[in-house]
Amino acid sequence: MKKGKKLYEGKAKIIFASNDKKYVIQHFKDDATAFNNQKKAVMDGKGILNNRISEHILTQLNNVGIKNHLVKRLNMREQLVQHVEIIPIEFIVRNIATGSLTKRLGIEDGTVLDSPLIEYCLKDDDLGDPLVSTEHILAFKWMEIDELNLINKELNRINDFLQGMFRGVGIKLVDFKVEFGRYEKNGKKEIMLADEISPDTCRLWDVNSDKKLDKDRFRKGLGNLIEAYQEVARRLDILHEQSNIRPLKYTKPQAVKIKKKQ
Ligand code: UDP
Repeated sequence: MKKGKKLYEGKAKIIFASNDKKYVIQHFKDDATAFNNQKKAVMDGKGILNNRISEHILTQLNNVGIKNHLVKRLNMREQLVQHVEIIPIEFIVRNIATGSLTKRLGIEDGTVLDSPLIEYCLKDDDLGDPLVSTEHILAFKWMEIDELNLINKELNRINDFLQGMFRGVGIKLVDFKVEFGRYEKNGKKEIMLADEISPDTCRLWDVNSDKKLDKDRFRKGLGNLIEAYQEVARRLDILHEQSNIRPLKYTKPQAVKIKKKQ
């Protein structure tokens, strides 16, 4: 697969053309942004970790019948994905109230929701990705009702699966954001999950300590973002103890006492 010209550059990823117009190459950058691009930094190795974590999650989702754009990982930073037209809505699913929900409605941080809450935001950085209702989506024809019904069902399936997957490795899935895209199959428009699912797009808390293992470490200036993403990758069994994703700190080899044979 040959890499073609840059088609689009977002905050954390770049999309390149491939030599087959059905596919594009998704490149994960190390850039971290928060608060609608007002806080920025480069986090050495983040792109590599998100590429691996998202590959793992989308593969698992595909195995349980949740169609998505991933074809295969090409290298440390890139994936071959199906070319889709991204629907201009960010779909947010929440299990525990935190972040913008608590600020907007005065809900206490950490409130466990009785059932998952779905929210829609218009994908528009200039407007700060405003929250929109089903009525807005239909009135402005951002989606057809059938598409929205199908996506709502998929969101619940994705949430169920991810909650179980993370719970199994001692992580609470607090909330997450996903995107969907349209593509044509046999002359018919179809919909599939696209973009990425990673600690950049999910809130992940350790079950015992509630330690944040996601981008909130950057948003809130808690530090150790890469270590937290590595922890997620390690628990998901993607990364093994001796990772070379980031050069490990040099530690002087310890002298080993060798017992003389008696
Ligand atoms: N989220 C995201 N991209 C966005 C906005 C939100 O991936 O542009 C994710 C975020 O990481 C969290 C969930 O969506 O897992 C809900 O985010 P919230 O609305 O609380 O956003 P905040 O403004 O607090 O980041």
